[in-house]
Amino acid sequence: MSATGPLPVVPLAPPPDGPLKLDQSGPYAPLVTRIPTDKKIVFITMDDGTTQAPVAQDLFRESKLPVTMFLISHTAASNPKYFKGLVQKGARVEDHTVTHPMMNLNKRSALYQKNQICGASKQLKGIFGIQPTLFRPPYGLYNETTLKIAHDCGIHAVVMWEGSMIGGGLFINQHEVGPRNPLKPGMILLMHFTPHFNEDYRVLLAAIAKSGYSVGRLTDYLQ
Ligand SMILES: [Zn+2]
Repeated sequence: MSATGPLPVVPLAPPPDGPLKLDQSGPYAPLVTRIPTDKKIVFITMDDGTTQAPVAQDLFRESKLPVTMFLISHTAASNPKYFKGLVQKGARVEDHTVTHPMMNLNKRSALYQKNQICGASKQLKGIFGIQPTLFRPPYGLYNETTLKIAHDCGIHAVVMWEGSMIGGGLFINQHEVGPRNPLKPGMILLMHFTPHFNEDYRVLLAAIAKSGYSVGRLTDYLQ
């Protein structure tokens, strides 16, 4: 994959006929791993925000795709201009805790989890002016307390993923996406803000384009 030149062209998926109505009655926020759809649509998510490659601005402008960024709120607060620029190009900011605790969230107290989840939502709303409605626990590790606290913090869905950019390739269940390991409708894909952002984004879009998929806006499908 070339690191320069035009991006692989990936169409934007239209909003669904009717969005997935999640059960918000509590006490737990619903857990979502795949969006129920029979259409060839996948969803792009990006986690953390640790490395802020300037090229992301150009890549988002060119691709015009609705990326969901699960940001560490302290990291977003350290460079709000950068992330606001990405939001202006169509990305949306969601909750990924205040500090991305190294010790797993699912082993911490309810109060600790509340400070991490509600605290990040509050800080992100302060920066971007939009209340997050989705949460992704660091490392995908959660327990019942996490789901309950997420609900209490105003989170509509705790979002996992199936496909992930690893070492320059898109992988599902340790196998690279290709004819023998295809994408499936509704899959949620993950990449990170790393020094290889440009290459990763290009490989991700190429895999989606080659599979004949389009990319949907997660919040259009989760309400
Ligand atoms: Zn993370």
